[in-house]
Amino acid sequence: MAWDFETDKDYQLLLDWADNFVRTKVMPLDVVLGSAMEYQDPDFIRLVRPLQQEVKDMGLWACHLGPELGGLGFGQLKLALLNEILGQSRFASVVFGCQAPDTGNAEILAHYGSEDLKDRYLKPLLNGEIASSYSMTEPQGGADPTQFTCMAVQDGDEYVINGEKWFSSNARYASFLIVMAVTDPEASAHARATMFVVPTDADGVEIVRNVGVGEEGPNHGTHAYVRYTNVRIPKENMLGPRGQGFAVAQTRLGGGRIHHAMRTVGQIKRAFDMMCERALSRTTKGEVLADKQLVQEKIADSWIEMEAFRLLVLRTAWRIDQYNDYLKVRKDIAAIKALMPKVYHDVVSRCIQIHGSLGVSNELPLTGMLMSSFVMGIADGPTEVHKVTVARQVLRDYEATEELFPAYTLPNRRRAALDLLGDQIEREVELW
Ligand SMILES: Cc1cc2nc3c(=O)[nH]c(=O)nc-3n(C[C@H](O)[C@H](O)[C@H](O)COP(=O)(O)OP(=O)(O)OC[C@H]3O[C@@H](n4cnc5c(N)ncnc54)[C@H](O)[C@@H]3O)c2cc1C
Repeated sequence: MAWDFETDKDYQLLLDWADNFVRTKVMPLDVVLGSAMEYQDPDFIRLVRPLQQEVKDMGLWACHLGPELGGLGFGQLKLALLNEILGQSRFASVVFGCQAPDTGNAEILAHYGSEDLKDRYLKPLLNGEIASSYSMTEPQGGADPTQFTCMAVQDGDEYVINGEKWFSSNARYASFLIVMAVTDPEASAHARATMFVVPTDADGVEIVRNVGVGEEGPNHGTHAYVRYTNVRIPKENMLGPRGQGFAVAQTRLGGGRIHHAMRTVGQIKRAFDMMCERALSRTTKGEVLADKQLVQEKIADSWIEMEAFRLLVLRTAWRIDQYNDYLKVRKDIAAIKALMPKVYHDVVSRCIQIHGSLGVSNELPLTGMLMSSFVMGIADGPTEVHKVTVARQVLRDYEATEELFPAYTLPNRRRAALDLLGDQIEREVELW
């Protein structure tokens, strides 16, 4: 029997080290530094680089990568257990060299980039020296990529890109963008687009504005509205075959979605821990909140949902390791992507409620987490789309019946049972 819910002892020691390291050395950065992506900022160099070195010394740097790329080839299950820890801190994935969107972009470069692109972009990306951005969504629609209009037209040995992209995260810090552009407008819906590496400082790349998430405010976000005007790039910057942009995108999106889910388990646990401590500490009407049944229900529901979600994430990670093929786990990944925003939202909402005014204040991370729960239901494709995937995949295992009354109705089951057993039954059985 191979079912096992225990972590092997040696790996648990590493997880314990990571947990302590994140709590004592990384989480303090969350409350004193600005963006985790400003790699050239003097504070980043002074405070973050030494921590990255400690992670490297422990052998935990970029452990989402296989050995061919300098990682340890941990596989997704071990990574899931580590990411639960990293998910608790804004800076942790940068300190451990496994932050989105760089992880997914590295995967694309590793699979489809030329040796020259790997030298120029993949190596410094893996070393945490540069940041990257993924530029796919367009202002007129993201959930349906067949509507994209940003074009790349071949001109000799170059492609010329014109169009706009929306919510290209971290473009303002990135050295390059991976851009999806239409190269074959007449082709079928999923063979129209191609991926390209575009240096952020190329002529014609313009950040129209940086959009933020959350409260209305001025131009201080990290999700860029990008305009590409006659941007010329060599044809060698193409990633994967022409027209296969959607297939190439799956390389990053499959992994990206489960990595978000792993980190979200950590965020949910963080909210859950706060909720429990508060329930045990706050007294009203002569007893602690934890003694009130309506509060107990919140804690019980949260624990059940959190554990169920966590197990689904871990099983999905295990399946990826077993099959080594994201297409074989499409249903599982879509399922955790669809479940993630709900569990995150519900646990954080209960945590806010139990904290009362403190819960909605700007002295706790909870309103930001609540907004993140909505982000998880939109970024990398809306929940509705992933539920459609789950349903379609599930229904593949079933067949329709031509019968007016299905075989599982009682009269049909009795008839079938009598066919099988009738000559052994002595009394008369009424047939409806
Ligand atoms: C924080 C954040 C970071 C992001 N980072 C990036 C990035 O780095 N690069 C990038 O390219 N994109 C990025 N995105 C964009 C993201 O991929 C898109 O927001 C997403 O694909 C949805 O597209 P949209 O926002 O245009 O919504 P729309 O396509 O306009 O959809 C709006 C809503 O319509 C409903 N809907 C859509 N389709 C269906 C359907 N088939 N059935 C039923 N209902 C449906 C859903 O409720 C959906 O939320 C990011 C988004 C967020 C929020």
